[in-house]
Order: sequence, then structure tokens, then C-alpha cells
Amino acid sequence: MVPAARQPGDPRGDASGFASPDVDPRPAFPSAQTDALTGLPNRSATRAYLTDQQGTEVSVLHIDLDSFRTVNDSLGHDEGDMTLTRVAALLRDVTAPTEFLARVGGDEFVVVRPDSSPSEATALAAAVLRRFAQERWGSEGHSVQLSCRIGITVGDAADDLLRQAGTALSFARDRGSTRFYSPEMTRSAAERSRLASRFAAGLDAGALELLYQPQCTDTGRLVGAEALVRWNDGGTVLTPGDFIATVEESRLIDRLSDWTLDTVGAQQRRWKDAGLPPTPIAVNLSPRQFSGLEANVAATVAGTLARYGLAPTDLELELTESTVMPNPGEVDPEVEGLIALGVPLALDDFGTGYSALASITRLPISKIKLDRSLISDLSPDARSRVLVEAALWIAARLGIQCVAEGVETVLQRDILVAAGCTIFQGYLFGRPVDAAEFEARWLRSDGTPGGGTH
Ligand code: C2E
Ligand code: MG
Ligand code: MG
Repeated sequence: MVPAARQPGDPRGDASGFASPDVDPRPAFPSAQTDALTGLPNRSATRAYLTDQQGTEVSVLHIDLDSFRTVNDSLGHDEGDMTLTRVAALLRDVTAPTEFLARVGGDEFVVVRPDSSPSEATALAAAVLRRFAQERWGSEGHSVQLSCRIGITVGDAADDLLRQAGTALSFARDRGSTRFYSPEMTRSAAERSRLASRFAAGLDAGALELLYQPQCTDTGRLVGAEALVRWNDGGTVLTPGDFIATVEESRLIDRLSDWTLDTVGAQQRRWKDAGLPPTPIAVNLSPRQFSGLEANVAATVAGTLARYGLAPTDLELELTESTVMPNPGEVDPEVEGLIALGVPLALDDFGTGYSALASITRLPISKIKLDRSLISDLSPDARSRVLVEAALWIAARLGIQCVAEGVETVLQRDILVAAGCTIFQGYLFGRPVDAAEFEARWLRSDGTPGGGTH
């Protein structure tokens, strides 16, 4: 049995920076299970804690400092130790009394939350990232940039959650990024390489298909659509969650993107030629396409528009916040290229990171997409509602459209409408369907709202 985490109502840790063990109400662990520098439980205590929680649903966040080695190298080990102590204090402050906090490695920390709500875990990750960005790191005259990445998993504490969160962390490659664990991440290297070659063969053999998911007003009137890829792998239809990470890792992502843009371009041309109502189609771009010298997304998009004689507004590009602004204040040159083309940019997965606010004020983003994890457990008293309301308020003030993703229930829709949301994408309005069905059901409909109960 290990000591329980703090109880609700306990006072918080010291917000000002340094750990103050005498006011921190977290229970003490035996010294073998305590990290001497920060006073936090260590990895062994974390394992014991999770074992003790077997049978309960929890969330695990694995937090890794990005540039800690630079702190040690440039400012010395004493300053390094001081920084780790400050990080511990920051995390003590930002976590709730019921959350378990540990230092599990040199610059790695773990938080265990006593529930498995993805949106609450995401909200906590965003709060951590925000606090990191606000803090002044380094010593007087020697400021350093310190940021972190976070891997998240949810499930029964009996599962291998520590390993899962660590795996997700290794996929959160960018500074200030968070990733949720998916089973695909744990595929062995050999399996991933087999999957990558099957995918490459599938691309050549025409085994990919695009589905189109409608984006509607609250009354179900169509305003746009998102193209979502499916892979028919020898009779089994796989969704991106089954293969995108591998496709990104093997750099087949550029070929997938070329194919997706070309397919959407050709389809838009046919729909326009048929005189169907102009409907912008959104295409997802992966952050991996923007890294490296060989990146040429803007040229590919320009080529697609030219080849099919499309206007920039016939397309929309969905980017994530780590893509649009890889480092605070720095805009990726490929993104600049996309901006110059005039294709509307949508910020996908909004609410899963923290820097988006900076990027939407500095870049011509036309739309933000509230991530499904924020919407999924939306209820009148959920914390995620506050985040959603705040995002909608900010978007409205900046004149940016907001799309709520993953809207499945009337309750979610009603909360969103009350908060000012005007565009919806989710099963309540329409599932992703193939081009023929999208055309028949959405583009050729007689104007009667398609939404409500698809
Ligand atoms: P995303 O861009 O956030 O797309 C939304 C995902 O949410 C889609 O999953 C969609 O099917 C799903 N979804 C929409 N409404 C609901 C709902 O009401 N309930 C639930 N449970 N799910 C809903 P999908 O198609 O599996 O795609 C997953 C992710 O894969 C996408 O997330 C996108 O990031 C990526 N992706 C999809 N197609 C492409 C592509 O062509 N290229 C690249 N690079 N990424 C893609
Ligand atoms: Mg998307
Ligand atoms: Mg999304």
C-alpha cells in the first residue's frame, strides 16, 4: 500500500517557484521511493502507486523537458538542479490535490490523474505547457528557453500505462507538443517496416480512398467538408489511427499528401464542372511534411490548384499548431508559402497544446477546429466547457471561424450553440462518406438540412 495522493481541499504547493516541503500536503514516501533533489516520489513509487490503483480508470501524463541539457551545459549543474527544483514546484502548483506527481528520471516527470477523461488530461497538459511558457527560466542575466513535451494515456491503472505514456512521449517530437498514446505506436520496428511497404504498395495499387465528412451550421446546412483517408489493406479498411504514425515515420507522408491533394483537386474539378454548389474541401497536412530541407508542401498545393484550375478557396488546409509555429514567434517558411497562395488555413486539434493563441493572433488563420477530446465529455459542468467557451470567445473577437469536431449528441451541440459555435462536424451531423454518397446526400440535396441524425 502506498500513501494516497493529496485530498481535495488541501492547500496547493507554493506557486512562486521553489518547493516548500513543509507546506506541501502530498504524503511523504519512504526515502527509497523519494527523489532526494525535489522531494517527489520516484519511478519506483510511481509503479507502486499505479499497482495500488488497479481496477480504477486513470490518466497518465509523462512530461519531458526539451532543452534541459542546454541548461546544464550553459549554466552548470547547480543551476540545473535549481531548475529541476523549480520545475517540480511548478508542477506541484499546476496539478490538483488529487493528482499524483513524481520525478521518474533526470528531466522527466509523471502525473497520474484519478480519472480517464481525455479532455481533462488535455486541459492539464495545456496548463502545464502554458506555465512553462510563462516562467522565466535561467538565472539573472542568463535566461534560457525551457519547454517540455507531454505523452498522455488513459485507461485502467493495471494496464501498462507508464510505458504507454512514455511511448506517446516519444511521438511528441516537437517542443510544446502533446501526443495521446495509440496502440499503433507500440508496433515493433519490423512490423512498422512491413506496414510501410504494404502502404507504399497500396498507394501504387489504388488501395486508398478519401471519405468526405460534412461541416454544417447548427441547422445542418452544408458549409464545407473534410477529406479523410482510408486504406483498404487486403480487404480490411484501416483508418489513419492504424497507419499515419508509421507513414509519417517512414516519410511516405509526402507521397500520401501528394495523392490526397491530387485526389481532392480532381474531385473538386468534377463537382465544379457538374455545377454543384461550391464547397471548400479541407485536406490534412502532417507536421512531418514541414520539417527538413526537402519540404515542398506549398509547391505541391500550388501545382494542384494550377492543374485543376481551382481557386485557392476551393481548398482548405488543416495544420496543427506545432506546424504553423514550430518555435514561439517563428513561422515555418512553408507555411509562409501557403499563406502567399491564399489557401485558407485551419488550425486542427485546437485545445491539445498551448501555443495556438499566439499563432492565431499572428497568422492569417481562417478557422480553428476544436479538438474532439474537448467536445467528447462536454457537459454543463465539465471543465472542458470553460475551455471551449474561451476559445469561441477569442475566435469571435479575432473574426476567426470555429468548427467543433466530434459532435455526437444534441446536448453537446446545444452547449456549443449557446457558447456561440456556428460550424459543426461530427456524427450527429454526418459521418465521413465516400465521394459518390457525399455528392448524392450533401451536394445534390434539395436544400433540406442533411443534419440531425445521420
Ligand atoms: P482530424 O483531422 O482531427 O479528423 C477528425 C477525425 O475525427 C476523423 O477521424 C473523423 O472520422 C473523426 N470524427 C469526426 N466526427 C466524429 C464523431 O462525431 N465521433 C467520433 N468518434 N469521431 C469523429 P479519422 O478519419 O480516423 O482521422 C483521424 C486523423 O487522421 C485526422 O484527425 C487527421 O489528423 C488524420 N488524417 C486523416 N486523413 C488524413 C490525410 O489524408 N492526411 C493526413 N496527413 N492526415 C490525415
Ligand atoms: Mg483534420
Ligand atoms: Mg481535428
